[in-house]
Amino acid sequence: MPADVPADVPADVPADVPADVPADVAAESTPRVFVDRNRCSGNGVCGLSAPEYFEISDDGAMSLLREEIDPADRSRLDQAVLHCPAGALSLREERR
Ligand code: SF4
Repeated sequence: MPADVPADVPADVPADVPADVPADVAAESTPRVFVDRNRCSGNGVCGLSAPEYFEISDDGAMSLLREEIDPADRSRLDQAVLHCPAGALSLREERR
């Protein structure tokens, strides 16, 4: 755990949870992928970073294959969010 994290924060709280989120809430949160369908243009850039999460059909429709984020995939999903030209992707902590 980083040095600037208070000692009473449980070890299972993800490092990127904002400081104002109570520790008990953060520990029970599940990171998820969200797609703003009104913004998505179906260009498939996200599928290049994380093909197990995003699939583009031949007609250009994007399917979200899974919402719950495996912590091992987090950096690739961060890249997908960063490179989505429509700003349609976000990653959020959702309470279980
Ligand atoms: S990169 Fe963005 S705009 Fe392109 S398919 Fe994925 S979510 Fe949609």
